[in-house]
Parts: sequence; structure tokens; C-alpha cells
Amino acid sequence: RRVMVDDLDIRERARVLKDKVDVSLAKGHINPMLQLANILYSKGFSITILHTNFNSFYTSNYPHFTFRHVLDNDPKDANLSKLASKGIGDLLSGIMLLNQCSAAGFHQELNQMLIASKEPIVCLITDALWYFTQSVADGLNLPRLVLRTSSLFCVLVYASIPVLDDQGYFNQLRLSGRGTRFEHESVDLDLRNFISPIEESNSKKVENIESVRNLEERVSELPVLKAKDVLKMRIKGQGDPTAKLLANMLKQTKASSGIIWNSFKELEESELQKIHQDFPIPSFLIGPFHKYFPATLSSLQEPDRSSITWLDRQAPNSVLYISFGSAAQLEEQEFLEVAHGLATSNQPFLWVMRPGLVKGSEWLEMLPNGFLDEVGERGHIVKWAPQHEVLAHQATGAFWTHNGWNSTLESICEGVPMICSPFWGDQPLDARYVSDVLKVGVYLEDGWARDEIASAIRRVLVDEEREDIRERARCLKEKVNVSQTTLGPD
Ligand code: UDP
Repeated sequence: RRVMVDDLDIRERARVLKDKVDVSLAKGHINPMLQLANILYSKGFSITILHTNFNSFYTSNYPHFTFRHVLDNDPKDANLSKLASKGIGDLLSGIMLLNQCSAAGFHQELNQMLIASKEPIVCLITDALWYFTQSVADGLNLPRLVLRTSSLFCVLVYASIPVLDDQGYFNQLRLSGRGTRFEHESVDLDLRNFISPIEESNSKKVENIESVRNLEERVSELPVLKAKDVLKMRIKGQGDPTAKLLANMLKQTKASSGIIWNSFKELEESELQKIHQDFPIPSFLIGPFHKYFPATLSSLQEPDRSSITWLDRQAPNSVLYISFGSAAQLEEQEFLEVAHGLATSNQPFLWVMRPGLVKGSEWLEMLPNGFLDEVGERGHIVKWAPQHEVLAHQATGAFWTHNGWNSTLESICEGVPMICSPFWGDQPLDARYVSDVLKVGVYLEDGWARDEIASAIRRVLVDEEREDIRERARCLKEKVNVSQTTLGPD
């Protein structure tokens, strides 16, 4: 019995980052894939991982898997040189390009493996984003399972993009900020990052649109969401390249033999019913993966152990842990607001400052003058933390997160309340779910203002309200434990 797991990576991301300490992007996709591979290995399957050459250095941490480099072995390949000319911000084009140009090469690789393998190859598992693999698997009569590394809720929202578009939710001209007519100045700081200023001529058009929506309005199709959450996904409608990528992903997921989710039934019970209706293929909710294989070593960046020795010296439930994952980047102004908010909150904090977290900065050089002296022993900064251990530590009282799905799940599993500051994609959806459905987080939905940051920190760590949030988080953690004992990864 042989299972193949495919997790391609993008040449460009690695090239741009190779001078930095760590090539750590896309952890939210790579980690769950490796965790799933470990789960399957523990059930007796042998595993072959098909991977591009880039980001492949961590393979030595997995001596029990076979690794095969695919697709970017030929430096003269014209498609790959196109990829290399794209910037890191153009991740999406890289993913689309690989989807467009990889089918023939991948077919050849797989075919060779099928012929040469001594064991029967039973299945191909790929990240949902590699939708081109469905036709390859079909051509070789190989079942393909899809790993989806987000929440079910997020996929339901993605599936609703055409409807949301028809109703005008992606049309910035039909949205107004905080009850006022939508104008550049009235848009929240974080929204301003991805909405282009409205031109004079467009402003006139706003006057002519009859129903201008309010950013705070609930979305009729998906009442969990506010209109501004849809905008924060950074999609400009069905014709947008991201929307097309997602549409292809969903179409080829429906054509697969089943979906593996890093989620659990007790968390997304009503979403699961809807998924069964919309995706009439088997759904396997076997998460949270990290509960079975916590230590995923997918990069050279060593988690800084001083995080734990520092936490050991802090009072129970007193520390704010801050991490915005492996890819998000802050503008300098946002970063300064974070620093000032932390300074005025007067609460202990452990802050993961990845090199490159702040645009235009290597590491700590943009911290306000005197910040480190002012916070002293009250704050501890590391480049990378052992996040699972940090969240499980008794001193950790709250997690200020970007709501990547892995970080969100990890926080839920340890019963740690969140402060939510999403950046893009599924993160604003998860943030809304955490704050309004699960009610285990405070959503900083109006951007990065120091006073609001300090107030959110006090709400989760100091104010009376914290007890209710903590209690709900504790109940949710209980559900994870129940889910694990009743299901397990079998
Ligand atoms: N992570 C970590 N140490 C850190 C920061 C993050 O181990 O200092 C891990 C975290 O536990 C999670 C992953 O990196 O598993 C980030 O994935 P997520 O989906 O939250 O965000 P992404 O990086 O994909 O934006």
C-alpha cells in the first residue's frame, strides 16, 4: 500500500527569501500536509512526497518518507523562468502558472512511478490549490483525495463568491464606511491597504447608485459575515484572478474522490451539513492534525526555546502571545501602532517578530526609540516560537493572531482566547467566526489603532469580560478532547 502526497512549492518564494534566515512561507499548507503524511504513515501506509526543489531542505527531518523532486528540475524550462521573474507579492500568479503548465510533466512523473513501484500505489493526495492534478489522476485511473487546509466555513464562503458578486458585495463603490458615504478618508486603516483611492469620476458614480451598502451590514446569504469581511478577502468579483483560482479549486475538488479537512465535526457541525449538500463526495474531518503530530519540522528556523523559559517566569494566564504566522507583513505605521499598543497595555507579552515581518525592515530596527527599555522584562521578542508549546503553557492568557487556520485551530485546542487581526483570504472569515460565532475572541476589525489595541488586550487579559471569553474557550477545548477520544485519526 502506497500513498503519495504532493505539496508543490513556488520557486520564486524560495529565491526571494533565500538570503533570509528561514524560508518559512506557506507553513499553513506545508505543515498540515506533513502532519497528514505522518498520520497515514502511523497507520501503515508508506509515503512518497512529490515536491519541487525549492523549500526541500527540511526533508532530512523525515527519514521515513521518500521524497521526489518534480516539475522544476529543468533550469531551461520556459515556464519556470516566467515564474522566477514574478515578485513575491505575485504568489497567486505563480500558483496559477504551475497549475497551467504542470499537467504533462506531472503525468509523466506519476506514470513512471506507477510502473516502477513495487508496492501498489493506492492514492494521490494533493493540496486543494493544485487543481491541475485531478485530470492527471483521472488519466492514470488513480483516486485523488484533496487536502483542504482551511475551515469548512471558509470553503462555503468561497463557493458563494458568484452570488456575493451578483449582489454587489465586491463592488467597493456600493459600500460605505461607518455609516458615512464611502470615501477614501473614511475607510478604516486596514481596509485602506487594499482598496484603491476612489477617483473623482468614481465618486460621482457613487452618488448615482441607489443602494449604497454599509460596511457593517450583515451579508444576507451568509449572515455570520459583515460586508467589510467580504471586502477584506481582497477579491474584486468573479472575474478576479483569485476568484478564478478558487472556482477551479472548488470544481476539481468536487471531481475528486473525497476531501480531507483539518477540522473536527464538533466545531463545524452546521457547516458540515452544508458541505455534504454542496460537495457530494466523502468528507473526512480528522483534525486537528497537530494533536497527533505536534512537532512539524518544516524549516531550518529553530523555534526559540527562550520563549518557554521566559514563560516559566510569568504568572498563570497573564501573557499575551503575538504571532501573525509565516507570511503576513505589516506596514511600518501598523507596526508602530502594535508597539505603542503593547507599551500602553502594560501587560506581559511574548512577540514573534519574524525577520521580514515589517515591510522594508530586516528585523527590530523600526521599533520606536526606547521601546525595549520601556517594556524591559515585561516583553520577550523571538524570531520563531514553539507555538504549540507556547499556547499550551499555563502562563499564556491570550493569543493575538492573524487567524491563519492552523493558528486558529491551535489556539482553540488549548482553550486560549484570541485577539483577531486578519490580513487577507480566509483570515477575515476565520476572525469573524472566532469572534461572532464561537465568541472566543475580540476582533480588532477597525484596523491597527494603538488605543483600540490596548483596549482589546485589556478585554482579554484584565477586564471582567475575560472570564466569560475564557470559559467559552475552555468549553471549546473540551470539545476537541471529546472529538479526539471518539474519533481519533482512524
Ligand atoms: N508557527 C510556529 N512558530 C511561530 C509562528 C508560527 O510554529 O513562531 C506555526 C504555527 O504553529 C502554525 C503555522 O506556523 O502551525 C502558521 O500557520 P497558519 O495557518 O496559522 O498561518 P500562515 O503561516 O499559513 O499564514
